[in-house]
Amino acid sequence: MSQQADPPVTNESIEAQYEEYLMPVWKGLNTPVKRASGCTVEDFDGNEYLDVFSGISVTNAGHNNEAVVEAAKEQLDELVHSCTYVHPNEPAAALAETLAETTPGDLQKSFFCNSGTEAVEGAIKLARKYTGSKEVLALEMSFHGRTLGSLALTGNKAYKSEMAPTMNDVAHVAPPYAYRCQLCRGGPCSCACATDVERVIETHTADDLAAVVVEPVMGEGGIIVPPEGWLSQVKEIAHDHGALLIVDEVQAGYGRTGEMWASDHFDVVPDIMPQAKGIANGLPLGAFTASAEVADAFESGDHLSTFGGNPVACAAALATIEELEDGIIDNARKQGSWLNDELAALESDYDAIGEARGLGLMQGLELVDHSGAGPMDVSPAPDAKLAKAIGKHLRKEEGIIMGVGGFYKNVLRFQPPLSITRDQLDRAVDALRTAIEVHSDTEG
Ligand code: PLP
Repeated sequence: MSQQADPPVTNESIEAQYEEYLMPVWKGLNTPVKRASGCTVEDFDGNEYLDVFSGISVTNAGHNNEAVVEAAKEQLDELVHSCTYVHPNEPAAALAETLAETTPGDLQKSFFCNSGTEAVEGAIKLARKYTGSKEVLALEMSFHGRTLGSLALTGNKAYKSEMAPTMNDVAHVAPPYAYRCQLCRGGPCSCACATDVERVIETHTADDLAAVVVEPVMGEGGIIVPPEGWLSQVKEIAHDHGALLIVDEVQAGYGRTGEMWASDHFDVVPDIMPQAKGIANGLPLGAFTASAEVADAFESGDHLSTFGGNPVACAAALATIEELEDGIIDNARKQGSWLNDELAALESDYDAIGEARGLGLMQGLELVDHSGAGPMDVSPAPDAKLAKAIGKHLRKEEGIIMGVGGFYKNVLRFQPPLSITRDQLDRAVDALRTAIEVHSDTEG
């Protein structure tokens, strides 16, 4: 009897299965991915792409980093699951100790979960338990995740729409977004967004503040880097009100900005630090780390996770940290500085680029349309259409995967694996220049 061969798996067959069997949460699917290595991604039709977005800033040590894969495989043979909090396992213990050494200041004890949103929500629970207070302050235009607690902190109604109401007792304050600052209104930055935290606490809270939650560099908001002094000022204000500072390093941590933590750039030690994304180079893991004093506010049964601190993910995280510290973060700093100069040159060459900004290999280009004014008449109008056209051009014509995002959907996001080479970055910048010339008529 002849056996019928399975039909070949193609981009189209994968997309058809997604259409039929996955919930339709994302409009306009991106490239299906069959395999990946370093900065190269391959689809099911045999096309190769240069990935300068790392699966949304996750594979910091390079896709399928050999040492990380090897560590995970070894751990798979030894132990896949133990329920970390009930049956201690070695990789979780070792990772927690490594995080105590790697995180700044007196941060010492970690809780392991599975994702960024869980890390943020766990951090809120801990802040509430430690302070005995309930309210939380977050930034407008921020992103902290999509489960209901993190969604409440997220300062972007586009993510909430009909899913509200979320967690109560969250107030929002202006982000440190100098290019579109509605407090300094295009004038020189006076860090008014930091002092405004005080005003919002006074007007919107009821003297029951548990935490101020911020991203050290805002990723989904559009690669927004705060001005010098902002983070320390916000910490001081939080402490003056008896609240903790939670610095969400989910996207900016693990070497992304050229330092292990984005907080390091600002010399600020957070009270609680949620992490995820780059932590295990793609295996699902999240964590939040606090000082022993804060962490010990949790009592038995206050928080738990069945899969959190999975030994395979923790083994991968240990290998990831070793790889990052063994030259990859240095590369991020070096290549990031070169990229920063290249993007600044693009900004001066093309009117369509309102601002180039970023730290390390977390760089963004904000695209604008000078024929209109931006919100509240600050800076030119955001050009989301152009950003979308350039992102599509790069993928279809140049074989490059680049992020497109930002609060106004007008920011091109360079967040490649931190192991990227100068040649690869050069190729991406050249392709970007071509795409801008094809799609914008605003060459300066
Ligand atoms: N926090 C920040 C700063 C993020 O960028 C994200 C995701 O993009 C999250 C939290 C949520 O992480 P996850 O998607 O793993 O839940």
